[in-house]
Amino acid sequence: MFKGILIEGDRKNQTVSLASLDEAALPEGDVTVEVEYSTLNYKDALAITGRSPIVKSYPMVPGIDLAGVVTESSSPEFKAGDKVVLNGWGVGEKHWGGLAGKARLSADWLIKLPEAFSARQAMAIGTAGYTAMLCVQALESHGVTPDSGEVLVTGATGGVGSVAVALLAKLGYSVTAVTGRPEEEAYLKSLGASQLLDRSELSEPGKPLARETWAGAIDVAGGQVLASVCAGMKYRGVVAACGLAAGMDFPATVAPFILRGVTLCGIDSVMAPKADRLAAWQRLAEDLSPELLDSMMTEVWFDDVIDAAGRLLDGKIRGRIVVPVA
Ligand code: NDP
Repeated sequence: MFKGILIEGDRKNQTVSLASLDEAALPEGDVTVEVEYSTLNYKDALAITGRSPIVKSYPMVPGIDLAGVVTESSSPEFKAGDKVVLNGWGVGEKHWGGLAGKARLSADWLIKLPEAFSARQAMAIGTAGYTAMLCVQALESHGVTPDSGEVLVTGATGGVGSVAVALLAKLGYSVTAVTGRPEEEAYLKSLGASQLLDRSELSEPGKPLARETWAGAIDVAGGQVLASVCAGMKYRGVVAACGLAAGMDFPATVAPFILRGVTLCGIDSVMAPKADRLAAWQRLAEDLSPELLDSMMTEVWFDDVIDAAGRLLDGKIRGRIVVPVA
């Protein structure tokens, strides 16, 4: 038996508890992992609170990320004792996830824990940090360099945002951090932000084209914020859009795309191919200062995970949450 967060019931009426789970109840898979650390991402918080239909079948163990040690494997790719990391693939949505002492998974979904990181650090990065790197790589592959001009990161005190600010600053970009929490100025500057912009500046509808300001942008907000970001891009600027913290809608015009040649890159971490994941984790090992991870992370114990999910969605958590499981 092992402990895990269990979501039961159905879409309209779900209950969540810290439960005692039986290994026999684990789903099918060719690799069994003893989970050492998991984390709470935005999506996990949506699943646990039931605020969005993330959970596709019940009962479900949430947790889209885990880091741990293989205990059994019938796959030639992994053997008992291997340290592994999992991000996404629908785990924690339609396959039992990382917020439990054990998980049974497909070998195809696992990568070896990068040598640069401990299991705890890998979860401080988690899907949020790996997505931030996918966004940075999208800007790079579309030609945005530190010489191109100022880059923008929205939701800067959140998980994706914090890692994105730190990565871009380390790579030599001048970063404007968009936040609804001006009191976190010292934190954002410690990650490398050169200036802050209040979220309210981007939250109201404006003209189809605003002053050409940003060479690149990483957006976790969607909604009006993303529309305002697009309107303020420089000629041939690039926006990497990965989130919907402000909304699922996109009340924009085509003006930035057809008159300024702006590129909007969609970023999905969940089904990204393994080669892209390995490349992103390799770049995280090279370009993320491990000492900054400590200032970005808060540890939350199993018995506080359910409350923490509500705090995360209410914007009361800074950076990343790490959940020690073992
Ligand atoms: P967090 O909750 O850690 O961060 C979200 C941040 O967004 C908040 O901290 C806040 O930052 C900002 N924010 C909150 N509400 C609003 C609002 N109404 N308008 C503008 N900004 C707002 O979440 P994560 O960083 O884990 O995830 C961010 C988003 O990215 C989520 O929508 C998530 O679903 C998505 N995501 C997508 C992935 C993909 O594969 N596409 C992978 C990972 C995440 P501040 O207070 O500084 O303004």
